[in-house]
Amino acid sequence: MHVIEAKGAPIPLVGLGTWELRGRVCARVVEQALRLGYRHIDTAEIYDNEREVGEALRVSGVKRDDVFLTTKIWPSHFAPHELERAAKGSLARLRLSEIDLLLLHWPNPQIPLAETLGALCKVKQSGLARHIGVSNFTVALIEQAEQLASEPLVCNQIEMHPFLDQSKVTAACRAHGMAVIAYSPNARGGAQKDAVLARIGAAHRKSATQISLRWLVQQGIVVIPRTSRIEHLSENCAIFDFDLSGAEIAEIHSLAHRDGRLVDFAYSGSPKWD
Ligand code: NAP
Repeated sequence: MHVIEAKGAPIPLVGLGTWELRGRVCARVVEQALRLGYRHIDTAEIYDNEREVGEALRVSGVKRDDVFLTTKIWPSHFAPHELERAAKGSLARLRLSEIDLLLLHWPNPQIPLAETLGALCKVKQSGLARHIGVSNFTVALIEQAEQLASEPLVCNQIEMHPFLDQSKVTAACRAHGMAVIAYSPNARGGAQKDAVLARIGAAHRKSATQISLRWLVQQGIVVIPRTSRIEHLSENCAIFDFDLSGAEIAEIHSLAHRDGRLVDFAYSGSPKWD
C-alpha cells in the first residue's frame, strides 16, 4: 500500500470514493475493496451511506486501525454546537469511536470560518477525529484557514482530473504542507472516453482511467475513484507498476480546459474558484 504523509497523517494514495453508493451495493463494494487491499475509504454525512461503510468495515475482517476512513460535515452543520453534534452522528452511524479524517465538506460563507474551525479543532482535541482538513477550499480560504486553525489542517479535498487546471490551489496546499486529495479523479467516467489518455494507456497496456489516476498519484496527489463494479476496483488500484514520462505528464496537463469543472455546487453561492 502506498501512503503519503501530511502533517503527521498517513494517507493511502488510493482510496475508494462512495458518493452515490447506497444500501447493499455500497456495503458490497466497500467490503470487496477492503478485501482487495484498499485501506482508505471516503464517505460523508450527506452521502447517506455511513452505516453501510461501517458495517462493511466490520464484515471485511480488516483491522479497524489498518483502514484510513474519511467523513465530511455538511455546511448546514457548521455552527459550532451543530458541528460537534454532526461529528458524533457520523461516528454513531459508522459505529466507530473515532474517524481518521474529518473534513469541512464545502465552504459556507454564512458562518464565520473562525467559529467553524474552532469547533472542528475542538472535535479533534476531544479525540473524535485523528486528523482534520477541508474540502473545496480556494487559495484565499486556505490562507484564512491556516491563520485560524489551532490544529493542523492536513488536506484539501478538491475536484482534480486532467481536464481541470488546479495548479494554483495545489501550489497553495503544498506551501502549507497540506495533502491534495483528488475527487472525481476519473472526471466521472470522462477519462475513459478521452483519446489522448487512451493512446498513452495503450503504450503502457493500461486503460485511459488508469492513466488519469497515475497522472495524479505520480504528482503526489491522493485519488479516491468511485466505482460500483468489482472489476473496476482492481483496475483503479493497479497503477503502481509503471511510470509516465515527463512528456506524457506534460501532454496530459495540456488537456485542461476552461469548462473542465464538473462539480460546482452553489451552497450560499459558489466559491470564487482560482
Ligand atoms: P469519479 O470517481 O471520477 O468517477 C466515477 C465514475 O467513474 C463512475 O460512473 C464509475 O462507473 C466510473 N468508473 C470508475 N472506475 C472506472 C474504470 N476503471 N473504467 C471506467 N469507468 C470507471 O467521480 P466521483 O464519484 O465524483 O468522485 C470520486 C469520489 O470523490 C466520490 O465518490 C466522493 O467520495 C468524492 N467526492 C467528493 C466531493 C467533495 O465535495 N468533497 C465531490 C465529489 C466527489 P462504474 O460504477 O461503472 O465503475
